[in-house]
Amino acid sequence: MSHSYTEENYIKAIYKLSANGSQEVNTNSIAEVLETKAASVTDMLRKLSSKNIVNYVKYKGVSLTSDGERIALKIIRKHRLWETFLVEKLKFNWDEVHDVAEELEHISSSLLTRRLDEFLGFPKFDPHGDPIPSEDGEMKLKKQQLLSDMELGDEGKVVGVNDSQPLFLQFLDKLGIGLGSHIKITDKIRYDNSLEIELNGKKELLLSAEVSKNIFLSA
Ligand SMILES: [Zn+2]
Repeated sequence: MSHSYTEENYIKAIYKLSANGSQEVNTNSIAEVLETKAASVTDMLRKLSSKNIVNYVKYKGVSLTSDGERIALKIIRKHRLWETFLVEKLKFNWDEVHDVAEELEHISSSLLTRRLDEFLGFPKFDPHGDPIPSEDGEMKLKKQQLLSDMELGDEGKVVGVNDSQPLFLQFLDKLGIGLGSHIKITDKIRYDNSLEIELNGKKELLLSAEVSKNIFLSA
């Protein structure tokens, strides 16, 4: 069964807002993420509920059914495979791929997705370090923690980012930080929670709290 572009974006938004399906989501937060009116959200939730994609009770919350979750994982799988394709095969930079993948993820051919996966050598992670769900929705989770949660003297490799927006990724490029970079915390500034770090064993950098909240290091 195929779903409209709009339906798929709702399913994806609910999946993300519910911390991967584990919590109930309220209508207003969906409206905010999709930049639409609460009334339109209500209409769409009724429609998705009649198709057994969401569990929806007016004035309470909404969550995905197991069908809904399966659809969400399929979209995420396509999104992340396309991002990988764009970076590895078409030489896009990691800050350039998200918006293009937002369009490509709606192509429904499962044969295309399977061939793409095979062509890429069945990658487990996308260019931002996010896990790529397999065809049956399995994801390889890695041990990671936010840089901002780590202690003085802790170190690790950058394995992912919590924010895939171009402005953030471009800033990391400017600092010379990418997946695989080695970071060691050499000072924690108590005044504003910024961190002084050593990058790849040499360069000393000061990272704001906002930046360190969006970098995952291997745990
Ligand atoms: Zn993306």
